[in-house]
Amino acid sequence: MSTSFIRDRPYLAKERASDIAMPRLVICPLCHGFLWRPIACTTCETPFCKSCIKNWKAEKTEPIPCPENCLEFIERKCPAGYLYALSELKLTCLNKNNGCNETLPYNSLETHEESCSYRLKTCPGCRTEIIKMKFDEHCGQCPLFLLTCSECNTSYQRQYEGEHDVTVCLRIQLRQLQDNHTKHQQEANERITCLEDQIRSLWQLVESSKNVQVDTQ
Ligand SMILES: [Zn+2]
Ligand SMILES: [Zn+2]
Ligand SMILES: [Zn+2]
Ligand SMILES: [Zn+2]
Ligand SMILES: [Zn+2]
Repeated sequence: MSTSFIRDRPYLAKERASDIAMPRLVICPLCHGFLWRPIACTTCETPFCKSCIKNWKAEKTEPIPCPENCLEFIERKCPAGYLYALSELKLTCLNKNNGCNETLPYNSLETHEESCSYRLKTCPGCRTEIIKMKFDEHCGQCPLFLLTCSECNTSYQRQYEGEHDVTVCLRIQLRQLQDNHTKHQQEANERITCLEDQIRSLWQLVESSKNVQVDTQ
């Protein structure tokens, strides 16, 4: 049996709570971290993280038992007492190792972590993870970061910026103009052919009506 819920580190590791008198009640029996978006078993009312139950269900066949051994897990809302106990928790930010020293109430943790200046962002150039507050500075210097020339719209890595000089840029623009010109020429030719066809059929119409007039005289 695979145990993906153990492989996945719990979102809220117990170590993140700052107070030591931590209520044992608000721990998820599957991931052993604090409950996150909890739901509960209708029979025993034990709460679990919603994502932990999802992993649990993926590994079982119907009828899916409750992880606490009830015959079938039927989902219900997490009882209010647990939610209240969770709301009392104060937790350190997920980005503590990157330098964030904030301690946050459980209910505002997610909002903070989304906008936290110490959150890691991946540089689109070198794929390195950079702390959000240093991200712009990094991207402004990273040699692998893609730049786009405002004149010719060509993208190149910053390290090749020197090679994209005026001559190269003008050569690219010339090729773009030539390509555009060829395209327009083709379109114009098609339009002309179409008009010529129309003129020819009109001309034939005129000619045939003349013949009809001659015949009737
Ligand atoms: Zn869990
Ligand atoms: Zn149960
Ligand atoms: Zn933070
Ligand atoms: Zn980079
Ligand atoms: Zn250019």
